[in-house]
Amino acid sequence: MFIGHFALALGAKKFVPKVSLGTTFMAVQFLDLLWPAFLLIGIEKVKIEPGNTAFTPLNFIHYPFSHSLVNATVWAMLFATVFYFIRKDFRNSIIIGALVLSHWFLDLLTHRPDLPVFPWSDWKVGLGLWNNIPLTLATEVGLFAAGIYFFISNTELDKKHKIIFWSLITFLLVVYVMNVFGPPPPSEEAISYAGFSLWLLVAWAYWADKTT
Ligand SMILES: [Zn+2]
Repeated sequence: MFIGHFALALGAKKFVPKVSLGTTFMAVQFLDLLWPAFLLIGIEKVKIEPGNTAFTPLNFIHYPFSHSLVNATVWAMLFATVFYFIRKDFRNSIIIGALVLSHWFLDLLTHRPDLPVFPWSDWKVGLGLWNNIPLTLATEVGLFAAGIYFFISNTELDKKHKIIFWSLITFLLVVYVMNVFGPPPPSEEAISYAGFSLWLLVAWAYWADKTT
């Protein structure tokens, strides 16, 4: 899942209006923000294998540190704890932690059974929505549209920030369409480098939403 994650970050503004969109972006994508680093140091593995599912040419061979349910829970607790120490807001830190964990459950919906439950065992799960491109698009774009609706009805943006916000939304949609209909990535290494660019989206979201 790609823009579906961001949908939750946008929609979350209804519940945490004082938290910047940059922080909710970082939370929902935290597992994918860690993943490229784990790929580069060689403790996680991905392979380009067109046809692995209809939707993505990536075969997620081994990613227990970023994407097992147990580790996702640990990352969520760590993220929530750091957030709590910075902002001293217990309720918001719980919601932010839940956003980190939401990543695993949205991935569960889309991935084929390649998501580990425990980092130490071979039990892998996934409901395989990615085997069906129209259904994947309908789900993700539907979620994304709902997220945008929640965001704009709960956030005041001046003209400048509106432009930054809508350019971010457009960019996400373009990247999404390119991922679906474009060629597979040139190499496994390129995936990790491209993965780091996710951090730029986090910065862009902070820029779009000046909530402090
Ligand atoms: Zn993921």
